[in-house]
Amino acid sequence: MKSDLWITEQQTEDLLISFRVKEKLHEEKTDFQHLSLVDTYTYGRMLFLDHCVMTSIKEEFVYHEMITWVALNTHPCPQNVLIIGGGDGGALREVVKHPRVKSATLVEIDERVIINSQKYLPEIGSAFEHPKAKVLIADGIKHVQERQNEYNLIIIDSTDPIGPAEGLFSADFYQAVYQALREDGIMVAQTESPFLPKDRKLIKRIQADLRKIYSLVRLYLAYVPIYPTGMWSFSLASKKYDPLKVNKQEIIAPATRYYNSAIHHAAFVLPSFVQEFLQEVEKC
Ligand code: SAM
Repeated sequence: MKSDLWITEQQTEDLLISFRVKEKLHEEKTDFQHLSLVDTYTYGRMLFLDHCVMTSIKEEFVYHEMITWVALNTHPCPQNVLIIGGGDGGALREVVKHPRVKSATLVEIDERVIINSQKYLPEIGSAFEHPKAKVLIADGIKHVQERQNEYNLIIIDSTDPIGPAEGLFSADFYQAVYQALREDGIMVAQTESPFLPKDRKLIKRIQADLRKIYSLVRLYLAYVPIYPTGMWSFSLASKKYDPLKVNKQEIIAPATRYYNSAIHHAAFVLPSFVQEFLQEVEKC
C-alpha cells in the first residue's frame, strides 16, 4: 500500500504542487534555510530548500545540462568556470566533463546543502572531489565582487530571488559578474518561469539590466517537470560569443540526456507570448 504522506510546494498564492512521499530521508534547519530530503514515487529522491523544490534524481538532467552545456559550447575555450550556488552538485558534475575546462570553482553559501547532497543524492553530488573542482563555502556575491578578469564562464545556479539569493538577481551583481569575467566571458543564470506574471516581470527586469552591461543578451527555455509551470528560462549574457553562431558540428554533449546539438539552437526559439513580452524590455 502506498503511503499517505505528501510534500507540497506552494508555487504561487494560487498554485500548489504535491509529490507523494515514499520515505522522509532528512530534515534540518541550516544557518541559511530549511532543508529537507524525501524519496517520492514519481521523481525519486528530491531536495527542498525553504519548502521549494530544488531538484530530483529522475529529471535533474534537464536543468543541469541546460544551465551548463549551452554556454560551455558557446565559449571556444571555457578553461576557468565559476558556479555560484549549485550546492546539489549537478552543474559541477556537467562542467567537469568538458575536456577544455581546467578548473571549476563552486561557491555555495550553505555547506549543509553540499553535505546532504553527497549523502542522499550521490548521482547529482558526484563531482565535489573531482580533480578539476574547487569548492568554496562563501557568499557568491562577495566572491564575485573580489574577482577581476578571472573566469571564462560564470553560471548562476541559485535558489529563487528571496533570502540569501536575492542579491544574485540584482543589476549590481550582474555588473560585478561582468568585471569577474575575462574579456571574452559569458554568464548564464536560471531566471524562473515565463508563464507566471510575477516571474515575467523579473525576467524583463533581468534582461533589461543585462542589456545595459553586455553586448549580447539572450533568453532560452527548457522543460523542467518539477519547477512551477514546467517551462523554465535561462538568461545568457556574453561579451563576445553568440550561442546562435555555434557550429552544430563542433558541439559536444558527453553523455547528456536532454541537451544535444539541435536543442542548443532550438532552445532559443521562443513562443510568441515570450517574444512579445521580451519586446517590452526596452521600456523597462
Ligand atoms: N536548481 C535549483 C533551483 O532553481 O531550484 C537551485 C539549485 S542550488 C540547490 C541553489 C543553491 O544556491 C542553494 O544551495 C543555496 O544555498 C545557494 N545560494 C543561495 N544564495 C547564495 C549566495 N548568495 N551565494 C552562494 N550560494 C547561494
